[in-house]
Amino acid sequence: METIEEVFDYIIIGAGSAGAVLANRLSADERTRVLLLEAGKPNNIWTRIPIGFGRLIENPDANWCYSAEPEENTNGRRMPVPRGKLLGGSSAINGMIFVRGQSLDYDTWAQLGNRGWSYREVLPFFQKMEQFDGGDEEYRGRSGPLRVTEIPEVEPLYQAILDASQQAGLPFNSDYNGASQEGVSISQTTISRGRRQSTAHCYLEPAKTRSNLKIISEALADCLLFEGSRCVGVSYSRRGTVHKARAGREVIVSAGSVKSPQLLELSGIGQSSRLRNLGIDVVHDLAGVGENLRDHYAPRMRWRIGARGFTYNDKARGLGIVREAFKFFFKRTGLLGLPAAPVRAFFRTRGGLESPDACIGWFPLLVAPGYRIDEESGITTFTHPLRSESTGSIHIGSDDPYVQPEINFNFLSSPPDAEITLHGIRMTREIMGMPAMQHLQVEEIFPNPGLQDDDELMAWVKQTAETTYHPVGTCKMGSDPLAVVDERLRVHGLTGLRVADASIMPTLSSGNTNAPSIMIGEKASEMILADAA
Ligand SMILES: Cc1cc2nc3c(=O)[nH]c(=O)nc-3n(C[C@H](O)[C@H](O)[C@H](O)COP(=O)(O)OP(=O)(O)OC[C@H]3O[C@@H](n4cnc5c(N)ncnc54)[C@H](O)[C@@H]3O)c2cc1C
Repeated sequence: METIEEVFDYIIIGAGSAGAVLANRLSADERTRVLLLEAGKPNNIWTRIPIGFGRLIENPDANWCYSAEPEENTNGRRMPVPRGKLLGGSSAINGMIFVRGQSLDYDTWAQLGNRGWSYREVLPFFQKMEQFDGGDEEYRGRSGPLRVTEIPEVEPLYQAILDASQQAGLPFNSDYNGASQEGVSISQTTISRGRRQSTAHCYLEPAKTRSNLKIISEALADCLLFEGSRCVGVSYSRRGTVHKARAGREVIVSAGSVKSPQLLELSGIGQSSRLRNLGIDVVHDLAGVGENLRDHYAPRMRWRIGARGFTYNDKARGLGIVREAFKFFFKRTGLLGLPAAPVRAFFRTRGGLESPDACIGWFPLLVAPGYRIDEESGITTFTHPLRSESTGSIHIGSDDPYVQPEINFNFLSSPPDAEITLHGIRMTREIMGMPAMQHLQVEEIFPNPGLQDDDELMAWVKQTAETTYHPVGTCKMGSDPLAVVDERLRVHGLTGLRVADASIMPTLSSGNTNAPSIMIGEKASEMILADAA
């Protein structure tokens, strides 16, 4: 095999939500040479139409298509763990829902000892990333690269859900990314004029012609290179050739919550006994690599809608799909422009809480196996705790970089997660039973209204729930024995190496994780440039 060596200032591994931001910001100064390595392909046709996410979720051309180890609280199922594998990473295959989380999330990170990560301190990065026309300027950004929009059309079905939620006691919230998250809202999305706003589109497109930025796709980083405790580069494979690239300043690992810990372990950074057992030379013993895995585990409920014409199962039937296609091409709305859940609610499951601890999302159709539109007309809902406390792990079981690491979620191991989930199911039922929903002739299909007992409902959750694709925390930031990076995202005990992606979150953000991952990319870029000055 041939070996080629090139030298850069910064090498970024992974062109996802965080990595693409870093590539753009670090290469803004034309004197700085940046290499961005991405294991996946440059793009995929289905990323262009929002509803294409149904065609990406099991598509190995754009998705790592991992699966989790069987575990007790998933009834021994191998849960699918989709992750983006192309420029834009998971931002290019995700459900396009835009949720920052709560101020409490970031204040908690700061309280854990991470200076610079309080809500007040991360807010400027959330503002810097986005271009959003609504909301209050105190909270929202107007001129960032990522266009954020509200669903353009509040359909009668969405209005009924908004009204029913208010009848159940939730306030209407016109901006859950503003002063407060609480209430029921129309979703904000990373869709603009019918086009998905992935980080590939918003951050890489404008930067890709810079002569100082080299973007190499289909390049799998398989090992970090060290001189003593300093990371000096990376070895990567592309089409059967092994390459080496050197970093004069730093290597930044942005391979996501599954593959960042994998790459560290393959490179000899992690639990030393685990690495030695696999024959890997230990560069640095770091107990937390791959630990602290958190995700949102969410049961999906299915509801029949008897009244005709409200759901997309009805609207897309027969020639209706042609009408939907016209609607999308002329107005950029309708079925083809849908994100994962156009209506969502954030609420508290008990008294004494400062802010919401659970959410519900509504999707205006029933989906059949294989992500096809169901013959039956209805709605799908999901619910989950916002800041799940159950923690699991991701570790390599092989020294082969092409073998997926073992993912053990350990879902529901923290009792409050189960309690909040049960409350979410009951809250969904309450809302769906409100007078504002009556004209829709709503009927619960799944689980079934007869299932009322906590134990029975929990058994159903274990049989059927899935993740909402938000794994975080496997290279967590902090200063405790399980922390992998410090508050400036430098890997503890080593130099020249940072991790910047969803894996550094010490705890889950209250909602979807794309916006926080982009924020991490923005903040990491600023810290790296400041440290180099
Ligand atoms: C199906 C799905 C739906 C989702 N829906 C939403 C949603 O609606 N809203 C929301 O906010 N969040 C959603 N998320 C979650 C959100 O998209 C992720 O949390 C976020 O994109 C994570 O960003 P990241 O930078 O950590 O990793 P990623 O964006 O996953 O990027 C990691 C990148 O690194 C590359 N890579 C990995 N290993 C290597 C290697 N060794 N060498 C080179 N390249 C490598 C990967 O191919 C990938 O491109 C969803 C995720 C999925 C998968």
